Amino acid sequence: MTATGTLRNTSTNTLRDVLTRLEKERAGLGHFNVSDQVLLKAVVAAVAETKLPVVIGGSEGEREFFGVRQLAALVKSEREESDLPIFLNADHTHSLAKAIEAAKAGFDAVTIDFSALPFEENVARTKETVEAIRAINPAILAEGEIGDIGTGSEIKETAQGGKLTTPEEARQFVEATGIDNLAPAVGNMHGMLKSMVQGKAKKHLDLERISQIKQAAGVFLTLHGGSGTDDEHFRKAIAAGINIIHINTELRVAWRESLDKSLARDSIEVVPYKILRPVVDSVKQVVSSRLRLFQRQTVRRDAVESAIA
Ligand SMILES: [Zn+2]
Repeated sequence: MTATGTLRNTSTNTLRDVLTRLEKERAGLGHFNVSDQVLLKAVVAAVAETKLPVVIGGSEGEREFFGVRQLAALVKSEREESDLPIFLNADHTHSLAKAIEAAKAGFDAVTIDFSALPFEENVARTKETVEAIRAINPAILAEGEIGDIGTGSEIKETAQGGKLTTPEEARQFVEATGIDNLAPAVGNMHGMLKSMVQGKAKKHLDLERISQIKQAAGVFLTLHGGSGTDDEHFRKAIAAGINIIHINTELRVAWRESLDKSLARDSIEVVPYKILRPVVDSVKQVVSSRLRLFQRQTVRRDAVESAIA
């Protein structure tokens, strides 16, 4: 336990250290949302399997269902027991009070989201929140959002969002708020269309815009709504400057499909851990494959270096 009661890994790496290292390696950090302990177990199992660092996210709705302090306590105990590089983010936080609550519970990062407000108001409320959470934990990572990428990690009939972030807005927003990382709108969208769940369509990102925003903003960049994105676009987006990638709907789809299958397998089975074990495994596979994809560039470079040596 540290004096402030924050969630620190027993290893000395902070989330900022990990992001700095991965940026040098041109690799991305996966961020996966959890609503319950089945999803949490799946993400932890994927980290244990791949040995790759991860951010676990809980949005306001997910935190409310899980319990803010309960989620923080479980992540803390996973870290202490395994010494795995697991970090915790308060995803999409829409009020100062909820941001303070998460910072006090020991979250490593807060996604401050006033993106639905006009630009000036977004700036003012984000800045106020950044200062408040840093007063609680100076090492906390503060993320801000601009642009519109829709809401809700769900299956959707039609595409949402639209207003893309401009490099100039990004520069102004970062300067005025003092955030550590920026979540722009660059062709990403929360949720997935049915065609994406069926694998018939993929999201495509505005790679040129990512690279311009990176240059203008000069901070870590987070890609929200990553589910259903074309693999090659993920790799190129990381090369263009994306540092953290959020995946939620893909996990929820795997959770629902495997739960349906597990329940259908034996209609009189009532033992929860027998029903839920295959669900943990299915979600774990999604997380592991995304983690490996986001850090594949590291592996490739290592392979190149060893081939040259
Ligand atoms: Zn998001």
